[in-house]
Amino acid sequence: MNCIIIINRQGWVYGRDVMDDLEKFKRAGKIAAEVREESMKLIRIGEKALDVANMIERWILEKGGSIAFPVNISVNNQAAHATPSYNDEYVFGEKDLVTIDIGVHVDGFVGGDTAYSVDLSGERQILTETSKKALENALSKVKAGVEIGEIGKEIEETARQASLRPVENLTGHGLARWQVHTLPSIPNIGNKDKTKLKEGQIIAIEPFISNGSGRVREGVRTEIFSFEGKVLTRNRDARKLLDIIYENYKTLPFAERWLYDYMPELKLKLALRDLAMRGAIRGYPILKDVEGSFVSQHEVSLIVEKDSCTLLTPMKF
Ligand code: MN
Ligand code: MN
Repeated sequence: MNCIIIINRQGWVYGRDVMDDLEKFKRAGKIAAEVREESMKLIRIGEKALDVANMIERWILEKGGSIAFPVNISVNNQAAHATPSYNDEYVFGEKDLVTIDIGVHVDGFVGGDTAYSVDLSGERQILTETSKKALENALSKVKAGVEIGEIGKEIEETARQASLRPVENLTGHGLARWQVHTLPSIPNIGNKDKTKLKEGQIIAIEPFISNGSGRVREGVRTEIFSFEGKVLTRNRDARKLLDIIYENYKTLPFAERWLYDYMPELKLKLALRDLAMRGAIRGYPILKDVEGSFVSQHEVSLIVEKDSCTLLTPMKF
């Protein structure tokens, strides 16, 4: 997941005295990185996206983690917030650029938000190489006291050197308990933001690189939602569904396809619509760059240290 809106909440900074919490962040990160590496073998031409999503989500649970958000499977010009629908028939094609974004928490501590892209065509590896290189270059700048605009500048320059664009309206973010997105927002462009990183802060950095416009817009389809608050409604299904949602996912994002266990399709769709209309839940429409373009993403979660950083979701560069 990424953050298109800057959420006005206190960033999570770790007290070194609360080691239990830190251990939970670390465990979540380790599980996310393991699942990320193991999932790479699934991203092949002819593979069904829904099977891949189910498998990745099952592996997270089998390793003792919890799912922090529905696995995002974005294809081509999709950048984020895409996840297979219930009964989704999409199969990866030979021209597809596929991005997998995985989120893991342990007891609410979201320590694993990590992503990678694979170019199945073999023709657009410049994109996947550049998002990875941009992440590597950004990480080289991370330490306590660095201005976050400097991190964005590094990402933007890496993109420009490859004659590509960073996606300017998607950002990295802080990670917290029951929150995938908190301050600070880590830009993918050199926006001169002078906010300084702090030692012990837990953040995700996620360069998105595009050969399109370098901006994403909301599409029509929405597969991912999250709880916003309790509301009054006469719709009994909606009341039941809201209780199920809060009980299972708290304030973390969830997929519509997960809810078919609880309610048949028509009732579910009406209940979701009722809850969204009343502001009890919010939807995250699929974000995409212009038609015909391609977007690549690489992401890790990390702890800011005095002179560098520690990756919670280690990645080889
Ligand atoms: Mn992510
Ligand atoms: Mn993220």
